[in-house]
Amino acid sequence: MGDVVYINNVKDGDGAHMTGEVLCTNCKKEWVGVVPVGTHELECPHCHTMKGVFKHHLAPISNELWACHCGNKLFFILKNDIQCCECGVITNKDEIYHGEH
Ligand SMILES: [Zn+2]
Ligand SMILES: [Zn+2]
Repeated sequence: MGDVVYINNVKDGDGAHMTGEVLCTNCKKEWVGVVPVGTHELECPHCHTMKGVFKHHLAPISNELWACHCGNKLFFILKNDIQCCECGVITNKDEIYHGEH
């Protein structure tokens, strides 16, 4: 296993938001959350605890996303390349294409 380089300077995305399915670990209510970039504590609309967690990966609210030839839109960022986390192909930004959200 190689070293992990952590991203320290997380930007707030200039008002950008993300969306995903949320589960309350207290009362088990589920809902679709829309949150500002950087948010990691979610208030449950049912029991009002801060026990909401995203069930899957968050997705940007955008109709223009980069996609691998296999259709996947989630990638690992390597030092010089990009690796698809679905099929494992290593590529770069010139070889992936815009996919519809
Ligand atoms: Zn709850
Ligand atoms: Zn792929």
